[in-house]
Amino acid sequence: MKTLFFLLTVILLFQTDLSAQSTILNIEIRDKVTGQVVPARVEVADSKGNYFVAEDALLVGGDCDLTDEGAGLIDLESTLNSFTDRIQNPYSNSTQFYSDGISKILLVPGIYTLRIFKGPEYTIFQDTISFNGESNSYSAELSRWINMPDNGWYSSDDHLHIPRPVKELNPYISKMMQAEDIHVANLLQMGKLANFSIAKQHSHGSQGTYQVGNYILAAGQENPRSHFLGHTITLGAKKEINNPEKYLIYRYVWEEALRQGGINGFAHANQKEGKYLGISAHDGLAVILPHNLTHFMEVLQFNEGNYDLWYDVLNLGFKVAPTAGTDYPCGGPNLPGRERFYTKLDTGLDYDNWIDGVRKGRTFVTNGPMIEFTVGNKDIGGEISLKKTDSSQIVGKVIVNPDTDFIDIVEIIQNGNVIKRITTLDGQSEVKFNFKVLVKSNSWFAVRGFGYRKSELNQLFRRTDPMFFSWDTNSTYCHSAAIYVTLPNTENVERAKVASVWLNRLIDMENLLSQKNIDLLSERTDSQFFQAVSKKVLMDNRLELLHEISESKKFFSDILASE
Ligand SMILES: [Zn+2]
Repeated sequence: MKTLFFLLTVILLFQTDLSAQSTILNIEIRDKVTGQVVPARVEVADSKGNYFVAEDALLVGGDCDLTDEGAGLIDLESTLNSFTDRIQNPYSNSTQFYSDGISKILLVPGIYTLRIFKGPEYTIFQDTISFNGESNSYSAELSRWINMPDNGWYSSDDHLHIPRPVKELNPYISKMMQAEDIHVANLLQMGKLANFSIAKQHSHGSQGTYQVGNYILAAGQENPRSHFLGHTITLGAKKEINNPEKYLIYRYVWEEALRQGGINGFAHANQKEGKYLGISAHDGLAVILPHNLTHFMEVLQFNEGNYDLWYDVLNLGFKVAPTAGTDYPCGGPNLPGRERFYTKLDTGLDYDNWIDGVRKGRTFVTNGPMIEFTVGNKDIGGEISLKKTDSSQIVGKVIVNPDTDFIDIVEIIQNGNVIKRITTLDGQSEVKFNFKVLVKSNSWFAVRGFGYRKSELNQLFRRTDPMFFSWDTNSTYCHSAAIYVTLPNTENVERAKVASVWLNRLIDMENLLSQKNIDLLSERTDSQFFQAVSKKVLMDNRLELLHEISESKKFFSDILASE
């Protein structure tokens, strides 16, 4: 306590001293091409490594309160009070802030380094400012290395837990999203069995959609969400959907979502299996996949892309789009839009078009690199019907910001297998490919890339608390959605193998839910912190869930029988 008091005194003295000599520096940020003042993420540091935050920094935050009572963010005041003016960036280990484009920073005269960031399409602005305290205006121009919306591609984070209990929060949150250049920010109201108001959204559907230019805030939900069947996301439904009595029968919520024009997917689908009572999507997907209600899977998150489970889904014949999102700010230290996905739109950006683009699988996921990819002139998400065995031309490229990123490896995937691999040795920023492949049976093709971000710390981000996320090094990932090639009277060659694995998964779940195991299972699902599933609901849902499992078993058995 004494130490704390001493520290406070020092800080107060320091601040008094600082304000005695400091002056406001006005920083204005403009897009170099449009000339417009634009929001961005800003870092101001002195030579000693002290960081400075603007007096008028945008307030930022989220709601990850998993208690039954929740955080009590019910209005503008309580929500903004829970926000903060600074960002701890885990990738640079620095303190930054969001600017709406014009910021006032209190500084003593001296030398400062200024860095400005605005999502993956802009180059990092960097300058050294010699601030004499008199000339107090600074203007920064941000340039792009690529302009994806020019080609119809709009970026999105499908997983943001930012509370929006009243619509008056729209302008604040929109600017925060514009600062990260996130065109469609999906603000997910998070649920668990006992509380579906975490990061509460004031409205869903069109009432919950807020658009400024090419930037949209939209309400979605991460619910139902259990550490037994995985975490689900619904986007684009007209209302929030909850079914606490039948919490483990995800199908009811997803069917209702479809009736309301929404789309469904699994969060954290990049998490590996074997994290029982974790957030892996394996078990929940095995139960629900045969019902044709799944539109997307989060395959890139927490600085890690992992595609195996999604490949299975494609090999089973389901056209499911890859998406990415950050789980900001709930998944550990991260930034909104750090992992994101792009969706191709033929017309301008509006939320309904965008939902339709995701539904059609016209996406790619990335934390930096960009992708172009066609098979037989069909773009990502497209389909080609061949009459017989024939060759298809595969053309595309992976490109990265040459100032900050390297590409290490680019791989072309057919039915989950690498059919071409290109490794770069000298830090290339663009890898092109153009080759023919002979297609003999139903197939899907995609491209993925792995790279390295030289502008960031080369350190391991590994969490030490008992959460479930591990953090990788400063690597980059990208993966396109599939392009499908069909041939009459053929099947995907991997289909039966996958069906066998998934059938076994369901048999194992049946065993878990059997009379002899149910008490032990319920003790584990009724976990304190996550309140995954109460014993009562598990017991109440048990027979119906067993029925769902047996229906899905039939689906996978039929595949095996047809081989
Ligand atoms: Zn989740």
